[in-house]
Amino acid sequence: MGHLRGEQSFPDAARGALADSQLRRNLGHATTTIRGKRAAVVAECDDWEELRLAGEALKSSTMARLDQHLVELEERVTARGGVVHWARDAHEANAIVTRLVRETGETEVVKVKSMATQEIGLNDALAEAGITAQETDLAELIVQLGGDLGSHILVPAIHRNRAEIREIFLREMPGVDPELTAEPRRLAEAARLYLRERFLRAKVAISGANFGVAESGTLLVVESEGNGRMCLTLPETLITVMGIEKVVPTWQDLEVFLQLLPRSSTGERMNPYTSAWTGVTPGDGPQAFHLVLLDNGRTATLADEVGRAALHCIKCSACLNVCPVYERAGGHAYGSVYPGPIGAVLSPQLTGVEDNASLPYASSLCGACFDACPVRIDIPSLLVRLRAQHVDANRGGVPSPEAAAMAAASWVMADHRRFAAAETASRLGRLLGRSTGRIGSLPPPLDAWTGSRDLPRPPAESFRQWWARERGQGRARERGQS
Ligand code: SF4
Repeated sequence: MGHLRGEQSFPDAARGALADSQLRRNLGHATTTIRGKRAAVVAECDDWEELRLAGEALKSSTMARLDQHLVELEERVTARGGVVHWARDAHEANAIVTRLVRETGETEVVKVKSMATQEIGLNDALAEAGITAQETDLAELIVQLGGDLGSHILVPAIHRNRAEIREIFLREMPGVDPELTAEPRRLAEAARLYLRERFLRAKVAISGANFGVAESGTLLVVESEGNGRMCLTLPETLITVMGIEKVVPTWQDLEVFLQLLPRSSTGERMNPYTSAWTGVTPGDGPQAFHLVLLDNGRTATLADEVGRAALHCIKCSACLNVCPVYERAGGHAYGSVYPGPIGAVLSPQLTGVEDNASLPYASSLCGACFDACPVRIDIPSLLVRLRAQHVDANRGGVPSPEAAAMAAASWVMADHRRFAAAETASRLGRLLGRSTGRIGSLPPPLDAWTGSRDLPRPPAESFRQWWARERGQGRARERGQS
């Protein structure tokens, strides 16, 4: 399946991330800035909700006929001189791309940022075949030079600050000015010099695609830096790896998505560079074009009539930037190349929930992700549904501590006398929280709960006592008046 799951569960990985105060500072600063920019440009649109509804409707209708749209895309790409390849999983996609690069005789490729190739672990597969893949998106370059993993869909190096980036450049970039400062302009300049040399000598480029237009066979990449455009135009061979859900039926659909995407992702009214290409054009741009259509769990997700909504995602990352869990735990804790709220839904959908069982729990279910999503994916409901699937799959056998606690709670709540007795017992907890109003730690097994959160001090009077007192008095008053 490629890089869709980590080696640790989310709680274990998040524990380490939460202890890293520098990471939390970097993330807090970056997400607050992007959130502010997005809110400002979204507020400018009087028809933002209508656009969201249109985006949702377009995605739903496209998914309902995905097979037809993909066949049409293949026909149009082929008619314009491109070659279409179908890859069932990460292994097949990597094998196809590796073979295509080998056939060119090249051992170095430039890449424009692509989540699909991160998902399948293409760089590792190419490296095994002796092919060097050079990332050209600035954030991807920082991650690659730092020997790191991306932690955000749009800003993979969001967990790094300027001083850390300067250190990486000084350490890893051959020929960099030793006087390099952490000023953003100087850092961008160093990256530009480093990349220019690679753009000019590359004969093969590998790209992702934000959209594939079925009616014309056109692929599109939207970006902010222009490095992608260099990859898409200079080399002789272009290989595009695209998830099958990225197809849109017509150019007119882009009218909606190209408004929703930049405002939601970078907080811009319009992204600076939109590159579109259709097959090959003699004498202009790459003269060989290959499109690899990637399934890797998408068809199985599509078969789930509710869960398929996860495939509507246009990878804007707005849900990450508003998520309180992502802001504290960071992207690496999710284990998958798709972090944050959409990752917590998409990764288990693609791998099967048992392979990514902790991710649906990586959410407070506050709903901020749904409010921010430009195509109205109801992420909280999908998360609850995946949790239910996980619980159903694990019924029977030795109950987990959580299942035992839930069974005990069910037994207590099934009888009003037991519930009243439990309420009385819980008020003993008032002794524990009397100084702060909160209970910070409880003895085992209840420490599993207080290990990561405080409990409020129980009230002096329960709701049932209050009801009996108030209702009793009310009745007495009514009786007195009559
Ligand atoms: S789920 Fe919605 S908000 Fe999150 S990345 Fe996808 S499109 Fe953007």
